[in-house]
Amino acid sequence: MSVGKIRGIVLKEQQSGESSKYMVVLSKGAGKLRLNARGAKKAKSPLLAGTQLFSYSDFTVYAGRGFGTVTQADLIENFYGLRNDVAVLSQAVYLTELVERVCPDDMEQDSILRLLLTTLQLLAKAKVEPLLAGRIFEIKLLQLSGLLGTLDCDVCGAPASAFSPAQACFVCAKHTTKSDFVLSEALSAALMHVLEKEGTEIFSFRLSPKSYTELDRLLHRYLQVHTGLDLQSRRFAADICF
Ligand SMILES: [Zn+2]
Repeated sequence: MSVGKIRGIVLKEQQSGESSKYMVVLSKGAGKLRLNARGAKKAKSPLLAGTQLFSYSDFTVYAGRGFGTVTQADLIENFYGLRNDVAVLSQAVYLTELVERVCPDDMEQDSILRLLLTTLQLLAKAKVEPLLAGRIFEIKLLQLSGLLGTLDCDVCGAPASAFSPAQACFVCAKHTTKSDFVLSEALSAALMHVLEKEGTEIFSFRLSPKSYTELDRLLHRYLQVHTGLDLQSRRFAADICF
């Protein structure tokens, strides 16, 4: 049994019993952790602010058998602005759920933590358009998870010119089939931009509605095949914008 300090963001919270909660936290250095916060649902609990969804906090954790138990939670940032706009909030809910589902337990994920913090910060300050920010986040998350590297043909490695929805892979002109869709210049440029840039720079471009729809379709299929996920929160975040 030991006491330790953990800095991380709450990806998920779930009521446990009458006044306690169970949380999934993406922590600096140790990746995704499951923690208990006893009494944190009580209005006067000192744990209340630091253990809510999106709270980025310093946690003091007592590690016994099973999940660690949070004994103190000092809030660093709560991304309050996320709650001012339902389109922003629903996108943030989707992105944290996606991270929670994609990241394995107990494995350092600091680059993904930085990506999430940067994205939530920009969303909270209304500096990015929520739908496009969501797609940019997905590309970078896939890259950081080792699931998307380059835009090369899956068969021969030549530069890709199309996307195969059946295989969820990129293909060159020689290996393309009828059911594939051609990668427009705007779509290729957008994907390359996010793969090559870091930090807030990944968000520094715009797309026409047509190119956005293509990107959305490509990523929806890519996520389905490569992560096995087709989250309802992704659909909800899109529907709320129309
Ligand atoms: Zn090829």
